Amino acid sequence: MGMKALEDRIRRDGIVKSDQVLKVDSFINHQMDAQLFQQMARRWKLDFAGAPINKIMTIEASGIGIAAVAGLVFGLPVVFAKKSQSINLDGSVYTTKIHSFTHERDYDVIVSKKYIGPDDHVLIVDDFLANGCAMTGLIELCEAAGATVEGIGVAIEKGFQPGGATLRERGYRLDSLAIVDAMDPVTGEIAFRKE
Ligand code: 5GP
Repeated sequence: MGMKALEDRIRRDGIVKSDQVLKVDSFINHQMDAQLFQQMARRWKLDFAGAPINKIMTIEASGIGIAAVAGLVFGLPVVFAKKSQSINLDGSVYTTKIHSFTHERDYDVIVSKKYIGPDDHVLIVDDFLANGCAMTGLIELCEAAGATVEGIGVAIEKGFQPGGATLRERGYRLDSLAIVDAMDPVTGEIAFRKE
């Protein structure tokens, strides 16, 4: 089941930029509705009750607000993977490459070995799931660290792009709070998945 408050907000304030890109700058990606983030995090807390999560993880920049509020709701530390200009060669970080959906380029992404390790049980969160590149990169960082991915929380999954299906096939517990199955840049109409 999608989260009604989030779906309603997307319908009201989301802008269908193209058949691939949804803009949610007024409540997630530029101005942030922290109370909505809190409702989202509470939903993840219910859905992942029982999972031995001890850390929230995301990627900069757009995941950080959502992850910070999730950290507050779960009472857990939050780590964000950083987009790095220079490859760090001293062995103090885990690195991976992520192709950016929005910027159409590759980034090196790092996380310090100080902040993630084999004892960690991670809930990964992000604003959008499209092709799954960002999520796959975060999973790779967790794997490199020997950490366990307990689950994945996504605000908006675009169900017509392959990221969600791939992660579910791989067996991850993926909790997308709104799944957009179709959107029309001409009419602005957005169809949500009903499960
Ligand atoms: P993916 O790596 O799954 O292809 O894309 C996910 C990342 O790209 C997210 O972190 C998000 O910031 C960005 N992204 C993907 N699709 C959209 C979209 O339709 N709108 C916005 N605002 N960001 C998106």
